Amino acid sequence: MDFQKYQDRLLFVPLGGSNEVGMNLNLYATQGKWLMVDCGIGFAHEYLPGVEVVVPDIEFIAERKDQLLGLVLTHAHEDHLGAVPYLWRDLLCPIYATPFTASLLRHKFAEMGPGAKPQITEVQPGAHFTLGPFEMQMIGITHSIPEMQGVFIRTAAATVMHTGDWKFDEHPLVGPVSDYARLTATGDSGVDAIVCDSTNVFIEGVGGSEEEVRDNLAGLIGQSQQRVVVTTFASNIARLETILIAAHRAGRITCLAGRSIRRMVDAAHDAGYLAAENEFVEEREIMNVPRKDALIICTGCQGEPRAALTRIARGDHPSIRLSPGDTVIYAARKIPGNDARIHHTMNQLTRKGVEMITDRECHVHVSGHPARGELKRMYEMVRPKIAIPTHGEARHLHEHAKYARTLGVKETVEAANGNVILIEPGNAGVIGQVRSGYIAVDGTSLLPADGSVIRLRRKLRDDGCALVSFCVSARGELVSPVQLFMPGVLDAQEDQELLRQLAAEIQAELESARPKSSDAQFKELAHTALRRAVKRDLDKKPVIEVAVLRVQI
Ligand SMILES: [Zn+2]
Ligand SMILES: [Zn+2]
Repeated sequence: MDFQKYQDRLLFVPLGGSNEVGMNLNLYATQGKWLMVDCGIGFAHEYLPGVEVVVPDIEFIAERKDQLLGLVLTHAHEDHLGAVPYLWRDLLCPIYATPFTASLLRHKFAEMGPGAKPQITEVQPGAHFTLGPFEMQMIGITHSIPEMQGVFIRTAAATVMHTGDWKFDEHPLVGPVSDYARLTATGDSGVDAIVCDSTNVFIEGVGGSEEEVRDNLAGLIGQSQQRVVVTTFASNIARLETILIAAHRAGRITCLAGRSIRRMVDAAHDAGYLAAENEFVEEREIMNVPRKDALIICTGCQGEPRAALTRIARGDHPSIRLSPGDTVIYAARKIPGNDARIHHTMNQLTRKGVEMITDRECHVHVSGHPARGELKRMYEMVRPKIAIPTHGEARHLHEHAKYARTLGVKETVEAANGNVILIEPGNAGVIGQVRSGYIAVDGTSLLPADGSVIRLRRKLRDDGCALVSFCVSARGELVSPVQLFMPGVLDAQEDQELLRQLAAEIQAELESARPKSSDAQFKELAHTALRRAVKRDLDKKPVIEVAVLRVQI
């Protein structure tokens, strides 16, 4: 792809968020300079065993980091900033964020340990600033976290309204309503393209207000007779405030269970968003509070394996236990793809006799994303010539593009991660492709999602393994018994007899080998003998590892 040729045009390159809900990373380029908007994580799924989250493959932009002028963050959700601490060393560019978003990002860097010193520049909500050829106007739009900022980007070549995640809520409870005047003003000044949230494009009407949720949650908590647990997205400060207010009114002592909830409450306090007067106790003390007086706010609404609610449901939380008659309120929606994990947690809670309330039983959650009625209103204000749906799977982007055309938008581009898109009325479209993909966050390291380590781990998960070891003399003779373990295939105790037979079969094969055979030949012989025997006896194909030890006798 010859970027030089498009020097004087405006290009858009999503590296994440245009194949999935999550992992948002968007690039804009003009005059040989690049701008990044957001850098988030996504949830990993079963094809990545042992991995909880993924980050975008950023090799394409890392190779051009001298041309990358900065990273602008729209808001503090994990799918928009969560990858920054992991990828920072490959980017080393200045970061621009509002005070609340910046505060959470600093917390995240601190949790990763000492070392990285990111250069974060705080910009106020609604700020106007320029980075090289990019002139940016931040525009406050309501969402399920404070200080969400759409970014209106003006360049010599074209203008773009990059919406970020948003909804229109007339009673957001925390923070101001959307800046409708400014959105309309951008429309008046001429918007070539909108890059817009597609999450709820299949939902008719409007999403509703946080205010309705507050009334319902307060009612439920007030009526409960036993312990109440509420799980929600930690970052939904208005929802946390609602729960805290309801707990206070009901005279309940509150416990914040889970690191991300505590981190978020701290950040919200720092930014002046939460003025809770609640009486808080530590996790280890909440079981001493009478059941009818206790309220626990916890993480785990998506069934995340290490989150507090998941551990409580599994029965391995260090201090919190639930009893029959306790209530768990899911004040959150299911992110697509997490259904199985969430249901698993719910089943475990059901077996404990816990009552559950979700938004199916009661209106205890309202989305932070625009339904069709809100999209229509946005398009009427911004009046873009080109619509580029983002923040969705291919089916969301396709539906959003169709819908945008019914709203009078002339051109639409259904992007996929890695596409290079020309933003130019009359010629908008995909003009190239760059490297993109998923990188698995595996403990403290990053692994390519389709690399050899993950591929082998998947095979180990599905087929188990066999470990063969034996000693060979310098003269090339077998001088020890063959040791065989088959974790995940055969039990070391119960299947002793079969393991011994298989080992004997390998041994016979090796003893027939010519003296002075190389290690590689010994390995090959053992491997082949075991593979054949296991296929015959067990109809399995485990991963086989052979260790040959040479001894000087
Ligand atoms: Zn998002
Ligand atoms: Zn968001």
